[in-house]
Amino acid sequence: MSPDEALAAAGTGDCFVVFHGDTGEVLAVRPTRPTLGSMTDELFDMKRAVPTVGRFFSAGALTRAVLEEQAADCRRIGARGQQIPDLESKPASHLVEVLEGCAPLPSALELPDDARWIIEAIFELHRAELTPDLIARLSQLRHRYPRCARALDVYLADVAGDRDALWRIWPGHASVDFSVLPQLLEAYGRLGESSQDYVDALLALIGCDVPFGGWFPAVTALGRVGPAAGQRAAEKILAAVHDTEPSIIELRDRVLARLQSGTAWLPCDCRDGHVVERSEARLRRTECPRCLGLTVVPG
Ligand SMILES: [Zn+2]
Repeated sequence: MSPDEALAAAGTGDCFVVFHGDTGEVLAVRPTRPTLGSMTDELFDMKRAVPTVGRFFSAGALTRAVLEEQAADCRRIGARGQQIPDLESKPASHLVEVLEGCAPLPSALELPDDARWIIEAIFELHRAELTPDLIARLSQLRHRYPRCARALDVYLADVAGDRDALWRIWPGHASVDFSVLPQLLEAYGRLGESSQDYVDALLALIGCDVPFGGWFPAVTALGRVGPAAGQRAAEKILAAVHDTEPSIIELRDRVLARLQSGTAWLPCDCRDGHVVERSEARLRRTECPRCLGLTVVPG
């Protein structure tokens, strides 16, 4: 509906407005504040057809300017949703040039705010393309993007296979930076790290007080260590992981089997516990469905 129609439908009281998530067009206006249940139902029904964004406005707060601002916001977010996967699929050399300011940044993206996921894409989707020249240029970028310096340090230590550099970032007994924990543990996993200090550090993470199971990569990491992590790792995981999500239970049980199994497991044919696939011209990286990230499968 047009802005005029939306303003007329809103009336002069509180209202709830549903916008098209990509274009910002007003799809529906409810002139009274709905209950949480009815609002959720309505948004859910619409989401099946198009992306939606819902906002409450108290009496008098909905104006033409607010509608235009919201529409501009939705268009920018919609464009980001298109431009991020497009950019991720470009070669590593192009992504490095974007970070260096030598190649154009798509219109809905901004630096330094978008630097972190571009760096992630370079190392996680395009790792095989990294030449010594690109790696040297990436190491220069830690000064240009100080907020990404820690992530760059982890990734660069990982591609160099430099255990000492990783241990300087997280010597186990010190508190870990959870924003780089998955990358750190993947790097240690690639090195085949299984020292007692490392296992102790992983065990200290299991069940610790981080929202949304931020410590969960440590469970996979213990699975990668295998029987060397010992029975106490199995006991700690069993005590800490009680999720009803089937994929989490599957991973937990696979890790427990790996920790307690004396028989030989076989290397998985995936790329380090992940699979990178090109689908509809986009690159996607997902956990390997065969080994669940453990890099080995039962023999
Ligand atoms: Zn695998």
